[in-house]
Amino acid sequence: MRFIIIGGDAAGMSAASRAKRNQPDLEVTVLEKTGDVSYSACGMPYNIAEPDRDIEDLVVRTAKIFREKQGIDLRTEHHVTAISPEAKTVQITGPDNKAFSLGYDKLLIATGASPIIPDLPGFDLPGVMALKTLADGRRIKQFLRDHQVKKVVIIGMGYIALEMCEALRGLDLEVAMVKPRPRFLPWMSERLASRVLEEIRAHGTDCLLGQPVQGIDRNGKQLKVLCEHADLDCQMVLSAIGITPNSRIARAAGLALGPQGSIAVDRTLLTSDPDIYSAGDCADAYHVVTKQKTWIPLALRANRAGWAVADNVTGQRVELQGVAGTAVFKVFDLQVARTGLSLAEAREQGFDPTEVVIETRSRAHAHPGSTPIHVQMVGDRKSGRLLGAQMVGLEGAAHRINAPAVALQAGMTVEAFAQCDLAYAPPFSPVWDPLLTAANQLMKKL
Ligand SMILES: Cc1cc2nc3c(=O)[nH]c(=O)nc-3n(C[C@H](O)[C@H](O)[C@H](O)COP(=O)(O)OP(=O)(O)OC[C@H]3O[C@@H](n4cnc5c(N)ncnc54)[C@H](O)[C@@H]3O)c2cc1C
Repeated sequence: MRFIIIGGDAAGMSAASRAKRNQPDLEVTVLEKTGDVSYSACGMPYNIAEPDRDIEDLVVRTAKIFREKQGIDLRTEHHVTAISPEAKTVQITGPDNKAFSLGYDKLLIATGASPIIPDLPGFDLPGVMALKTLADGRRIKQFLRDHQVKKVVIIGMGYIALEMCEALRGLDLEVAMVKPRPRFLPWMSERLASRVLEEIRAHGTDCLLGQPVQGIDRNGKQLKVLCEHADLDCQMVLSAIGITPNSRIARAAGLALGPQGSIAVDRTLLTSDPDIYSAGDCADAYHVVTKQKTWIPLALRANRAGWAVADNVTGQRVELQGVAGTAVFKVFDLQVARTGLSLAEAREQGFDPTEVVIETRSRAHAHPGSTPIHVQMVGDRKSGRLLGAQMVGLEGAAHRINAPAVALQAGMTVEAFAQCDLAYAPPFSPVWDPLLTAANQLMKKL
C-alpha cells in the first residue's frame, strides 16, 4: 500500500514517522515543495533575536535521517500541483521542472498555511518580509546582516508580530507597529489587552492602532509605510497580518471546505473523499466547547492530527476530540495565555455568557517577588459551564492556563472547576490560586 503525504513539516512528518513505525512495510512517500522539512517555525522569532545562532538549529530532524534511518521516501522540492481523486493520483512538478504523477492508496494533505499578503503597492519590494517558513527566517536574518537596518515597521499585531517586536527590540532596532483596526488583541478582554499594550509601549515600541495601510514606497534603501494618517520611515517591513489555509489543490479536487477555506475533516481526519485525509494548519477541527467546526492553526494539533492520520491509515480507528484554542505567547516580560472562548465569541456561539476580570498576585501574600496577575474567566449562565479563560502576568500565566484547558475538554461547570484541588506553596501562588479566585467570583454572577 502506498501512503502519499503532501507537505513535510509538523503534520506531514509526524504522520510519515508514525505510519512507518506502526507498519514498517508501508510505502510512505512525502512530497515537500521547499528544501526544508521538520523544523520549529515557533522558534524562529527567538532565533532571529540571536544573530550568531544558526537558524538551521531549528531543524528537528533532517531529511537524511527520515530517508536513511526511517525508510521514508522523502522528496524535497516536489510541488504537488493537483490531486485526481477518481484516478487516485497526484500531479507533481519536480526539482528539474518536469511534471509527473504518482498513484496513492491513501493520501494526506498537510500543506499548512501561507501568510496573507495584502494586494497593495509595495508589498513585493526588497526588505518587505513575512515570517512563515524557515526560508523566510533565513531571509530576515540575512537581510539584517547585510543592511544597515535601524528601524522596522511591523504591520499587524497578532502573536507572531508581537514576538518579532520583542526579537527586534532585543537587537536594539527601533520598531513601530501598525494595524488598521482600532482594537489591540480584539479577542482579549480589554483590561488584559491594555496591560499587554502597556508592556509593548514601555519597551519603546510605537503602536499605531486604527491606521489602514495604503501601501509601501521605496526611496533608495529607505522604505516608507503609507498609512491613512501617518507615513512611517524604515529600512525593513514585516507584514504579519495573518495566515490563510493552503487548500487550493483540495478545493480544485472537489473536496469539501470548512471555516475560512480550511479543508473539512471529520474526527478521524478524513476529508469528504474516503481515501484522502487532511491534518495541520490546512484543515479544520472541532471545538471542544462549541462542538462546531473551527480553524485554529497551532502546532500541537498539527502534530497530534498527523499521528491520528497515521494510526487510521495503518488500521486503527482514532478519533480526535478537538481543540480548545489554547495558546500562549511571550511579549517582553509578560506571559499571555488563553483557552476556550472570549465573551464575544461565546455570545456569537449562542451561549448566555458572563465574565469576571480580576487582578490578584502570582505568589502568596507578602512573599518576595510576587507580581500582579490578571485573569479573565467566562461562564455560561444557562448551563453553568466554564467557557474560557485568559491570563496575563509576569509569571504564572503560561502553564496555569492548562488547568482551564483541561476543564474545558472535560466540559466542567465553573462550580466544579472552583472545587479543583490546585497546588499551593507561597513561591508559586496564593493559597487560593488566581484561577480559583476567578472561578469563585464568576459563580456569583451565574
Ligand atoms: C513565527 C511562527 C511562530 C509560531 N509559534 C507558534 C507557537 O508558539 N505555538 C504554536 O502552537 N504554533 C506556533 N506557530 C504555528 C505552527 O508553526 C504551525 O501551527 C505548524 O507549523 C503547522 O504545521 P503544518 O505541518 O500543518 O504546516 P506547515 O508547517 O505550514 O507545513 C506545511 C508544509 O507543506 C508544504 N507544502 C504546501 N503546499 C505544498 C504543495 N502543494 N506541495 C508540496 N508541499 C507543499 C509547505 O512547504 C510546508 O513545508 C508558529 C508559526 C510561525 C510561523
